[in-house]
Amino acid sequence: MKSLIINKEDLKHNIRKIKQIVKDNGRQDNHKPIKIIAILKGNGYGLGLVQYAKFLIDNGIDFLAVSTVEEAIKLREAKIEAKILMLSSTAIKKEIEILVENDIIITIGSKEVLEQAEQIATKKNKKIKAHLKIDTGFGRYGFIYSKPEEIVQILKNAKNIEIEGTFSHFSLAFYEKDEYSEKQFNRFINVIEILKQNKIETGMLHICNSSGFLKFKNKRLNAVRVGSAFLGRLAIPNIYGLKKIGYLKSNVAEIKTLPKKFNIGYSNSYQTKQETKVAIIPCGYCDGFNVKEQRDMFRKIDKLRYIVRDFKDSFKDKSLYVEISSKTGDKREYKKCKVLGRVGMYHITCDITGKNIEIGDEVKLEVNPLFVDSTIRREYI
Ligand SMILES: *Cc1c(COP(=O)(O)O)cnc(C)c1O
Repeated sequence: MKSLIINKEDLKHNIRKIKQIVKDNGRQDNHKPIKIIAILKGNGYGLGLVQYAKFLIDNGIDFLAVSTVEEAIKLREAKIEAKILMLSSTAIKKEIEILVENDIIITIGSKEVLEQAEQIATKKNKKIKAHLKIDTGFGRYGFIYSKPEEIVQILKNAKNIEIEGTFSHFSLAFYEKDEYSEKQFNRFINVIEILKQNKIETGMLHICNSSGFLKFKNKRLNAVRVGSAFLGRLAIPNIYGLKKIGYLKSNVAEIKTLPKKFNIGYSNSYQTKQETKVAIIPCGYCDGFNVKEQRDMFRKIDKLRYIVRDFKDSFKDKSLYVEISSKTGDKREYKKCKVLGRVGMYHITCDITGKNIEIGDEVKLEVNPLFVDSTIRREYI
């Protein structure tokens, strides 16, 4: 049996650190502290939606956000009463109804959503809480920034909507050059000013994700939306002392000795050079092992950099390793063991020649929790 291990002290450290970073920025214009909205999409970035939400709440986070109706429902079913914002704007009536019934703050990013919400509010005879979404150049959810007068016209019809916030989303905050984020920020502020001039309530303003709030002190506005930073797994260099959260724990399932020139794994890409003692570990890419983030989030110039880096890397030892707990005298310590052959869906074979490793010994594997199947147990230690 496998589990994804989450070290509670490390996670607490990251939460404290992030609160500190946000606080060090001083205060908003109205002297209130900047709010942290914790993002829980993707099974809570892999940390287990409900377990992670409860952990965050126990550590002083009181505003959560999700990306799907399913996530929102699951949190409410688990009796989580914190404020929850649904980040995706949906014009599907049934979905809005479910969100409203579950007291989820909806996102309004189009005329269609507003109309549906107005109808539902009228029927239920109650105000619906919402954040407005402005598309400042992401091409996904939100009112397009370049036609603020149109947004004003649409919002003038909002009679039963309580606008608690207005937000946008950066597409390139992790990038080392900041012009595009700058542009998106200015587009956002421009829309806000026009809405205010037209007496439209904007509520709390937020645009920063993790890379954004860490890099841009002056763009944090009233709230920041924090996802990957809590896990210390950033798309920018981690110069903030955040700890990397999550590793996979498994056990050695089988041990055997393979003869010289014996094939290991699919595609016959590896052959033993001599007699080799191996351990079979029941983990593979379905557990997130050796699964990497896509590279499509980079521009042409980055692709060039990648080619150069890959070329340089081709001279380095790019082998994968796992750590296996092994007995040395009456002590146990983790030994680095090389993965031989390709990573399978649920299996890897590791070289344990000369090591005192037995069936059942514990194995630690580096994985990004986000890619670990949601059926695997999340264990907070
Ligand atoms: C995922 C997401 C975030 C959090 O992004 P991180 O970079 O992981 O902090 C914030 N806002 C929106 C709208 C998101 O979809």
